[in-house]
Amino acid sequence: MAKFIFVTGGVVSSLGKGLAAAALGAVLQARGYRVRLRKLDPYLNVDPGTMSPYQHGEVYVTDDGAETDLDLGHYERFTGIATRKSDNVTTGRVYSDILARERRGDYLGATVQVVPHVTDEIKDFIRADLDKEDFVICEIGGTVGDIESLPFLEAIRQFGHEVGRSNSLFVHVTLVPYIKAAGELKTKPTQHSVKELQSHGIQPDVLLCRCEHELPADERGKIGRFCNIPTENVIPALDASSIHEVPLAYHREGLDRAVLNYFGLNAEQVPDLTRWSNIIDAEQNPTQTVRVGIVGKYVSLLDAYKSLNEAVRHAGIAKRVRVDIDWVDAEEVQEMGARKRLAGMHAILVPGAFGQRGADGKMEAIRYARENKIPYLGICFGMQMACIEVARNLGGMEEASSSEFGPTNQPLVGLMTEWETEEESGDRRKEKRSEGSDLGGTMRLGAYEAWLRPNSQVATIYGGNRISERHRHRYEVNSSYIETLEKVGLQFTGMSPDGKLPEIVELEQAVHPWFVGVQFHPELKSRPFEPHPLFVSFVSAAIDHNPGN
Ligand code: GLN
Repeated sequence: MAKFIFVTGGVVSSLGKGLAAAALGAVLQARGYRVRLRKLDPYLNVDPGTMSPYQHGEVYVTDDGAETDLDLGHYERFTGIATRKSDNVTTGRVYSDILARERRGDYLGATVQVVPHVTDEIKDFIRADLDKEDFVICEIGGTVGDIESLPFLEAIRQFGHEVGRSNSLFVHVTLVPYIKAAGELKTKPTQHSVKELQSHGIQPDVLLCRCEHELPADERGKIGRFCNIPTENVIPALDASSIHEVPLAYHREGLDRAVLNYFGLNAEQVPDLTRWSNIIDAEQNPTQTVRVGIVGKYVSLLDAYKSLNEAVRHAGIAKRVRVDIDWVDAEEVQEMGARKRLAGMHAILVPGAFGQRGADGKMEAIRYARENKIPYLGICFGMQMACIEVARNLGGMEEASSSEFGPTNQPLVGLMTEWETEEESGDRRKEKRSEGSDLGGTMRLGAYEAWLRPNSQVATIYGGNRISERHRHRYEVNSSYIETLEKVGLQFTGMSPDGKLPEIVELEQAVHPWFVGVQFHPELKSRPFEPHPLFVSFVSAAIDHNPGN
């Protein structure tokens, strides 16, 4: 039977619980264990799909088409294990399933209650769809003490009781603030947070103490004494300069040892973490710096572009260069002009987005990249805008636009109303939507295959002609305009297997050294140990474009 590890957070949010869970998964994996990571989110949205990136950061999409919390991105990047729909649940999802069942009469007249119905549903989620893993690490979103968290704490308390303490462990991530005026680290917030957890019947077994300064042994002992925790299980977690240092740092401080000792497993053998130190070495010793301008809309909140930021860095690691990302507000490009705002960039990227705001600035940036032969990567919205830019400025289609922006005579990018999905059983099913459909759950989501044109630039980059990438969008480049665009040099070198949906466009290399647009989100599949080929090639092109090179 799997061992279950529950990760809760206290004192304040943003302590890096997700990263802590991912790092623990990575070090256990380095010791040869099979791990699975899951996230339980207490908010009422059914999934984060309809939430603004400003509220919730990026929406991470799994192969099986779930819109999930961005922490699942950390899990995947740190362990290399593809996450699934069954790895993220929210209060909204739990209630919507329960209410649907209640309406069907499945509860046979019973009063439906938080305990046991909601807590049972949460417990079912924790143990569902497992694959003989040794460890299942479940992160509970939010902070202990939040009203929304209560059913989750109650559920994991019951779960721990049911599987027994020898099969379950509670990790609590807290803050040990440094008070400058007193020149001291303060342990009281941690003590209070643990008390709060204890009041829900949960005794934490391991504490991860986030702190800016070294946590001296006597302070660890003090925390342990107040919280009923052995000193060696009070693990200091100092700020790291790169997220890739976190697994090494936790290992150094004894996190994996504490976990294995708790379960009575052998902790003597030293895990091989060389691949992590190699990454840090590459990050710390770059041979040169390249500047990439990312022209987007949510640039004031970098969590909105989490995977993108990581994917670009993975490529930098692979090429041993430092990638300086300039997060450019598309509206600034509009105001200042591309030439001025984007001067000095060695490459330009326009990422995914929704809505018209900033679209003109993005198209200006694309035009500037195209005309000045600066490497360009357009992702999803960035591909759609590239097609519109080329249609307007080279194809003579002045009114070319996207129906996302309202009615247009030349719907170069249009709403997709019908598409096919393949079910796990292999059956094909038609999905439909119309203008008036709900926004939640109405996109082309998850992994879809694309077939690449032999000998195209992208086929060379991928090293093959068939790929599978993750999608999250409602609109598609309208295939009836392919001929017009190909005539002016924009090649449709990746298409859906049925030949109907454009997946990749590129400018002929005779015209432009590196200009690629993709309808999918390659950043979701890039991992530090398997950098995505498109990003590696893009960063190589940036290196070639760097005159200081
Ligand atoms: N808004 C566009 C669409 O829905 C692009 C989405 C995206 O970039 N992820 O098709």
